[in-house]
Amino acid sequence: QREEEAIKLDGLSVAQMKEMREKAEKHTFQAEVDRMMKLIINSLYKNKEIFLRELISNASDALDKIRFLSLTDKDALGSNEELTIKIKADKDNHVIHVTDTGIGMTREELTKNLGTIAKSGTSEFLNKLGESTGEQASDLIGQFGVGFYSSFLVADRVVVTSKSNNDEQYIWESDANSFSVTKDPRGNTLGRGTTISLFLKEEAHDYLNEGTIKDLVKKYSQFINFPIYLWTSKT
Ligand code: ADP
Ligand code: MG
Repeated sequence: QREEEAIKLDGLSVAQMKEMREKAEKHTFQAEVDRMMKLIINSLYKNKEIFLRELISNASDALDKIRFLSLTDKDALGSNEELTIKIKADKDNHVIHVTDTGIGMTREELTKNLGTIAKSGTSEFLNKLGESTGEQASDLIGQFGVGFYSSFLVADRVVVTSKSNNDEQYIWESDANSFSVTKDPRGNTLGRGTTISLFLKEEAHDYLNEGTIKDLVKKYSQFINFPIYLWTSKT
């Protein structure tokens, strides 16, 4: 029951979700990613809030990329010239969505970018991190940038919906143990860009409050060069 509710996405019935999951390509995370996720969870449990900084920073990077591309390719923005970040807190379902109109990811990019770590020095970093205390760990992580995987500090399930100019809309989904990628049965609902949906752990439900999110955006994202809009449901 909880499982079925946890994966329900806007505009998709439980039956459609089930069918979609059965058809999905299943993948295992690269070993470094597994190590990284475990270390993040073990060393950053007191700094869970950084997930929002990481997601906004990724959204901003993706917006920079499409803007840069549009300088040389006049069709890059297509019919959607909007370059924004939108945060939506859905209190009924305990989900936070972070949506950007950035460059998006193809099916292949979803698998590669959110299943492996390409960065050099990763192993060295992971060794250092493994030996560090909590405070040192957050310093180290700040320098290295743990990025996307910090989502699992607050979420037990993460769904990434993405639409790149170079592919159809795809859905990446993970419970931190493995991940799957599948074509979005809803078609192209994003136009262009990415939505990261965090299905929050019970102890992280406070991040659904407007005040909490506003404070975090102020604290961590005041120098982001794109407008950030916040929407919270009433209940
Ligand atoms: P980093 O930002 O340091 O590269 P992350 O773990 O934060 O590492 O993100 C991994 C990769 O996933 C990014 O490099 C990018 O290619 C991709 N990615 C993450 N979030 C987004 C997004 N919102 N839009 C497009 N690509 C993204
Ligand atoms: Mg990042």
